[in-house]
Amino acid sequence: MQANEVLSHFGLKHAGDHAIRSPIDGAEIGRVSYDDAKSADAKIAKSVEAFRAWRNVPAPRRGELVRLFGEELRANKTALGRLVTLEAGKILQEGLGEVQEMIDICDFAVGLSRQLYGLTIASERPGHRMMETWHPAGPVGVISAFNFPVAVWAWNAALAIVCGDSVIWKPSEKTPLTALATQALFERAVKRFGDAPANLSQIVLGLRDVGELLAKDRRLPVISATGSTRMGRELAPVVAARFGRSILELGGNNGMIVAPSAKLDLAQRAITFAAVGTAGQRCTSLRRLFVHETIYDRLVPSLKSIYAGLPIGNPLEKKTLVGPLIDKAAFENMERALASARDEGGKITGGGRALENEFPNAFYARPAIAEMPDQTPTVARETFAPILYVMRYSNFEDTLAKHNAVPQGLSSCVFTQDMQEAEKFLAASGSDCGIANVNIGPSGAEIGGAFGGEKETGGGRESGSDSWKAYMRRQTATINYSDALPLAQGIEFDV
Ligand code: NAD
Repeated sequence: MQANEVLSHFGLKHAGDHAIRSPIDGAEIGRVSYDDAKSADAKIAKSVEAFRAWRNVPAPRRGELVRLFGEELRANKTALGRLVTLEAGKILQEGLGEVQEMIDICDFAVGLSRQLYGLTIASERPGHRMMETWHPAGPVGVISAFNFPVAVWAWNAALAIVCGDSVIWKPSEKTPLTALATQALFERAVKRFGDAPANLSQIVLGLRDVGELLAKDRRLPVISATGSTRMGRELAPVVAARFGRSILELGGNNGMIVAPSAKLDLAQRAITFAAVGTAGQRCTSLRRLFVHETIYDRLVPSLKSIYAGLPIGNPLEKKTLVGPLIDKAAFENMERALASARDEGGKITGGGRALENEFPNAFYARPAIAEMPDQTPTVARETFAPILYVMRYSNFEDTLAKHNAVPQGLSSCVFTQDMQEAEKFLAASGSDCGIANVNIGPSGAEIGGAFGGEKETGGGRESGSDSWKAYMRRQTATINYSDALPLAQGIEFDV
């Protein structure tokens, strides 16, 4: 299925002012038109209207819409997965995996639609009952990044819809086609559902200025924004200034400690998937590897030989494991980071442009290993490319401290068979990240857990566990069924 066929599969027309090019070969695969302030404003107004109707629909019935949407995703997994590959450049296995993640969160949300529990709390006053109810929050603005063009929206939208909210989505300007295809599937589910309000889910397209319009708008009580730390730093004060709630999923700089007792065959596979998968363009990609000095000379040469044989190429082809970077700017960032790592004493293996003759208008890069003398400023920055910084260590506690000494706090892991090291890594004084794994790489999370990270990663949580609470407002209600009016704290106030 080529781009045209995929787009017509979703009923999308090849029309609009802005060309969308595939990172695979730079060819135009579609066109879109951007929203302006006026059309965005009208869509937000429609979102409010949809919310007012949807909040009164019983939650289990809301779950039924998400169930139908999950069915549409199942039936169209191959086409949507392929479009993810065409538009974002990740290998087809990962494109399909991304759609599977959408299906999984739909299943989760359907169950959740019958479990939006509040508490009953003991009142200190006789003849009183106190309870907590979770109500829908309002229209939710979702701003998403290019590297998970559809799954991140689904994490937000599936929960928001069962929570009784409407959704307005500003996808990355680099990946609007997958967003339009997803919206088409959602509309099919709405049609089968029968009586959902119009405009329950909408899309606004454009550059960051359209994201800024959502951030500013008081009608959107929740803004869930995924992207760079730079974006979060700009957006958070705008949302906070109007006392909105933001869910921030920002940059990561994820580390792994490989201890002497580690099963090196497992570590090696985990390292390779996490460092070169999605061409190093996952927020959870492995970027910092701390290897114990006693195993360094076994593990690192072996990684280098795996890297030398990595199949780089067209992500639609089955044998490919490393697809293209999203664009030229991403490649230039990688080159710049490697140059400054070299200046800081790094020894670089790999790197540089690949397949330039075959794909002159696309940017394939050879994944790089940078052996660093220490955690230098370049290592402490997130470069969204397949660069693995490797450092030797001798003491576990010191290395744990170093692991935590970067501004980001998304994902982390330790490979060890030593129970003390594993527990220390997970303890209060261990990894300071939102995600901490033992004998599993830092990327490839399941939807059942809450996803997100600390510090410059933004602090937001999405997806599983009790992340749904961010899409609702909590109401504490006290009911007096007595004939008296006792005041809390025993205060007397007789009139
Ligand atoms: P980006 O920050 O360039 O853009 C992300 C989105 O934000 C886009 O839709 C963009 O138009 C919008 N945007 C940019 N500036 C804005 C502003 N000031 N106000 C409102 N909206 C604005 O990010 P990207 O290059 O698309 O994605 C890569 C980054 O995203 C990496 O840093 C990666 O770590 C991060 N990311 C984080 C997670 C996570 O869950 N923590 C997941 C995926 C990606």
